[in-house]
Amino acid sequence: MAMTSFVVDEQDSRDRGGPAQPLLTVNALRKHFPIRGGLLGRVSAHVRAVDGVSFTVAKGETLGIVGESGCGKSTVARLLMRLIVPDAGEQIFDGEAVGEHGGISVKQMRRQVQMVFQDSASSLNPRMPVQNSIAFGPMAFGLPKQEAIAMARELLTKVGLNPALFGARYPHELSGGQKQRVNIARALALQPRMIILDEAVSALDKSVEAQVLNLLQALKRDLNLTYVFISHDLGVVRWISDRVMVMYLGEVVEIGPADEIYNNAKHPYTQALLASRPALDPDMRREEAPVSGDPPNPINPPAGCRFHTRCPAAEPVCAAKAPALRDGSDTGHFAACHLHDPSSGHSQSVRH
Ligand code: SF4
Repeated sequence: MAMTSFVVDEQDSRDRGGPAQPLLTVNALRKHFPIRGGLLGRVSAHVRAVDGVSFTVAKGETLGIVGESGCGKSTVARLLMRLIVPDAGEQIFDGEAVGEHGGISVKQMRRQVQMVFQDSASSLNPRMPVQNSIAFGPMAFGLPKQEAIAMARELLTKVGLNPALFGARYPHELSGGQKQRVNIARALALQPRMIILDEAVSALDKSVEAQVLNLLQALKRDLNLTYVFISHDLGVVRWISDRVMVMYLGEVVEIGPADEIYNNAKHPYTQALLASRPALDPDMRREEAPVSGDPPNPINPPAGCRFHTRCPAAEPVCAAKAPALRDGSDTGHFAACHLHDPSSGHSQSVRH
């Protein structure tokens, strides 16, 4: 039966543009949430949660997205799944625009893109045995119940849970790690090409987290998957990601190969984030906060470079002019900072 076959060709038969065509292209994605106030409930301001975000995800790669809480990374995930509707921007899946005007519909996109959330407990129906939760999606797409359950049990095996032991259990009978394995199985049930993992391992103990990360890597290899991996944990993101995108106040400030970002961060915000990681050696631990102050209010973000109110290298040009994402070194490593634009007017700007 086709639905239960997990043998994936070297090149997915659904692959339309070949390996060079990105699986996902996002252009100028924007979401501003209105804030209503006063007696009449008029819109008084907007939270600029995602403000012109563009990136690509290549076939078979893992793109990590990092940033402080409130930077917009989880909103990007929800926009990509259309759990919330973007105000503007373009989403292209394997060469086809997603939306009402040509290309593929949101429903068609959702068959190929699935999401796993942090809260494994509330993602599962508490009154349904877990194998039925996994079978639910394929049944909604017309697979007969018996076949869908057989497929669910096969998926339980795939994620390391014995279906004879776990299939008929209810979510409250499982540990956090087991529930997250069920959520991963559920995401796989529609045989997606891409999975968006939003803080998917953040609630797990470190040892369980490592097991689930290893499982994700094995599944990616076996099933030709592509991941967008969102986390506040820089260590985990480095371990799993091929490329990393850093967000600050709704914008992308740096994106590039993971090794480049971690060994040669260009943007002062990324440098501060990396410096704030707790050192394993207690003698290396620092007392002072590497990024001073809290992030500014996203309702009224600072003009120019949004990081200028906290940046140790800020100069007047930073408040006057927003820096564009540039790759001065032609390594696919982009940063939005006047320090890396020789024509910016910043006194310390460098040529790469
Ligand atoms: Fe700092 Fe200016 Fe670069 Fe922004 S543009 S990160 S304020 S140096």
